[in-house]
Amino acid sequence: MSQKVPSIISSIVSCKCPRCREGKVFPHSAFNLFGFSKTNDHCPNCGLKFEHETGFFWGAMYISYAFGTIIMIVFGVLAINLDWSFAKIAAVLVPTMLLITPFSYRYSRILLLYLLSPNRHFDKKYV
Ligand SMILES: [Zn+2]
Repeated sequence: MSQKVPSIISSIVSCKCPRCREGKVFPHSAFNLFGFSKTNDHCPNCGLKFEHETGFFWGAMYISYAFGTIIMIVFGVLAINLDWSFAKIAAVLVPTMLLITPFSYRYSRILLLYLLSPNRHFDKKYV
């Protein structure tokens, strides 16, 4: 009997644990305004401690900064090509940045866990 193992891409997109790809990293939905930033201390499935040292998730701030920078560059190029006024740019960009904040927050932590964390690799024995 073989159990289908989730792909790394689907695990990243669905914010699952990097070791078992089953447990949720975040207990609440990204659309939960007051709970989107809560991160589980341990994986509810395999027990992996997500923040393995104090301040570990500070590194996610740099990834989040990169997300914001990419969006600003895309908007800048669009604004220049579409000849938008500053007011129009601000009217579009500010709500967009506010709306993506929960996703930027979460995916920067997920990418940090998956890509930049040693000893956080997938292990079949936890599936
Ligand atoms: Zn896990």
